[in-house]
Amino acid sequence: MTCDLHIHSRYSFDSSESLAEICRWAVKRNIGVIAITDHCDMIQGRDGIAYYLEVEKQRIKAFEKVREEYQQLEVLYGIEIGNAIDCPEETRKFLKLRKFDFIIGAIHFLPDGGDIYKLPYRDAGEVKRMFRDYFISVEKLVRLGGFDSLAHLDYPLRVLKGKVSAPTIENYRELVEPILSGLILQGIALEVNTRGIYDWQGRVGPEDWVLTRYRELGGRLLTIGSDAHTAFRTGVGFENAAEMLRRTGFRSYTIYRGRKPVEIPI
Ligand SMILES: [Zn+2]
Ligand SMILES: [Zn+2]
Repeated sequence: MTCDLHIHSRYSFDSSESLAEICRWAVKRNIGVIAITDHCDMIQGRDGIAYYLEVEKQRIKAFEKVREEYQQLEVLYGIEIGNAIDCPEETRKFLKLRKFDFIIGAIHFLPDGGDIYKLPYRDAGEVKRMFRDYFISVEKLVRLGGFDSLAHLDYPLRVLKGKVSAPTIENYRELVEPILSGLILQGIALEVNTRGIYDWQGRVGPEDWVLTRYRELGGRLLTIGSDAHTAFRTGVGFENAAEMLRRTGFRSYTIYRGRKPVEIPI
């Protein structure tokens, strides 16, 4: 069964897709479970709790509608919280006000507010500094906890085409390792993100060595998400993700209902 736990809809600033269209594609592709995980970036000076509470009101109505219309599909109520470390108290308050099935934690911004997706990356030094700051932020986020799965660990690679020689985070092993240990300690899942399959990386992320190391350290919880921002990308790359899991010694992955993990065999 395919369960895609990372999908964006029109309730994210960077998508215009309706929930109904996402569900239509999911059913067409024989997907059993989807989680709509719209953005909620908790960085200082941007949007804030009042804005997101307003969005959630509309989003909940949209969920009710598709759940009624697509009874053959399980539609989980998810969210992708960005940079919770910048506003931990506000994040906690916000998350308590809604009964989410599944919460993704992500880092999209550096400590100085720099948007990883939009930085110029003029030379190798800038790339190196960004990766350092990024992984340190991710580790902090994992230590803060309060979410179910860590999104796209190799996120910066998306925008580094032509800026690095290969799509790898191998040079940052010593920064990645404490993140993996932190996830295990906190009982947080690691996300396998399939978006790189149609991007320059040409594969799902993170790399095999990350999953292998996570497993060696005792990691068992993995979620799989397409990070689709358009309905037709829903469930894309799941065959590749399943292959990767088998290659690295996993026999199952995890979905979350009411924030409780449920094991799904591959
Ligand atoms: Zn993200
Ligand atoms: Zn996302």
